[in-house]
Amino acid sequence: MADVKQLVSMLQELDDNLVGCMRCGMCQAVCPVYGATFQEGDVTRGKIALLENLAAELVENPQGVSEKLNRCLLCGSCQANCPSGVKIMDIFLRARAILGTYQGFNLVERAIFRGVLQQPGLFNSLLDMGSKFQGLFVKDASNVVGTSCAPLFNSIIGDRHFPKLAKAPLHQKYASLDIPAGKSGLRVAFFPGCVTDKMFPNVGEACLKVFQHHGVGVFMPKNLACCGIPALASGDRTAYDKLVTANLAKLAQGNFDYLVTPCGTCTATLKEIWPLMADSLPADQREAINRLHHKIMDVTAFVVDVLKVTLPEAQTGGKKITYHDSCHLKKSLGVAAQPRKLLQSNSNYEFVEMAEADRCCGSGGSFTLKHYDLSKTIGQRKRDNIVQSGAQVAAAGCPACMMQMMDMLSHNHDNIAVKHVMEVYAESL
Ligand code: SF4
Ligand code: SF4
Repeated sequence: MADVKQLVSMLQELDDNLVGCMRCGMCQAVCPVYGATFQEGDVTRGKIALLENLAAELVENPQGVSEKLNRCLLCGSCQANCPSGVKIMDIFLRARAILGTYQGFNLVERAIFRGVLQQPGLFNSLLDMGSKFQGLFVKDASNVVGTSCAPLFNSIIGDRHFPKLAKAPLHQKYASLDIPAGKSGLRVAFFPGCVTDKMFPNVGEACLKVFQHHGVGVFMPKNLACCGIPALASGDRTAYDKLVTANLAKLAQGNFDYLVTPCGTCTATLKEIWPLMADSLPADQREAINRLHHKIMDVTAFVVDVLKVTLPEAQTGGKKITYHDSCHLKKSLGVAAQPRKLLQSNSNYEFVEMAEADRCCGSGGSFTLKHYDLSKTIGQRKRDNIVQSGAQVAAAGCPACMMQMMDMLSHNHDNIAVKHVMEVYAESL
């Protein structure tokens, strides 16, 4: 049962954030969910109207509130286009926390957020075991895209096409790293993120190759935990706080100049969400988050803006490659030019822009799990834009977007491979 005092204080805090909305509707045109459903309740303005009456709505129809609030990718397109500067992500995340506090969590959510994710060693072991036995229920879907499907589990995961769990995840090859700075004189803390570690270890390897090439030292503590966003997006503030606390303790064990990740979602969470939601943490952790904030960077931005590597001019005549702007990279962090520069530096490729490159791919983490049909409708538009660009390879800077693009391309039987920007850049070295 929710603590009533806690709930009231959370509702007051939310009220303070809502007053900035002028109901102008500018958020409507950019909302990918509204673009697929044309329902006012799916756009920010509609959700804010719901939240203004949250206390009454919660008592009357908590399930309805939950359904409406969760029909959102947390992509940040609305916030990036709001002329009144409403802190929409802050509002949505706090509203989900209120809902979570009021409703509580089911057994599966508790087992994942408060059990498995809190113990990275156990999480790794479970998925390592899963990778050994996945052959029993997973079959190949597309060799070009590199996807599989699991028809036996359609009732749980839908008919999605996904990359298999890696046979050798990054943590198996590198349990931890403590490499001193080389010729660059810099050392990074490397936060690969769960999806990179367990599904795309080649992306982590590519980053390590780039660090070695440019003489960058690497600190990667053993058993870094999840960045916390899946728990927070599901409204479990308690589990989220514990994950942040665990990661801060691990990161405090090393010295580094920058903290970099190859995952747009992890970068945005560490850099923007950790400070935003730090109010429930002790003072020493809030200070640690503030100190870290200025060091956190997307890995492509680190290579281009900090290392200032000399890159060849864009080439023509190679395989055509296009780029999808992850919402968290472009809208939250302003990273857009850097990945394009790295892609253009590989002479095996000719860079081509796709239409609506910065339109959300429809993944949204837990959104795709809860609203797969809607996620596919939004993803199909991304797939159509990729195909129309004429590219043979689609690149992104976020493993979650890569998974969504792979799913869409694989379902459409497209001969288009999906790569991370760092893989393409590492190939050129
Ligand atoms: S764009 Fe901003 S101010 Fe306008 S309706 Fe949306 S949230 Fe409110
Ligand atoms: S965060 Fe994205 S999906 Fe959610 S309301 Fe804003 S634009 Fe729409």
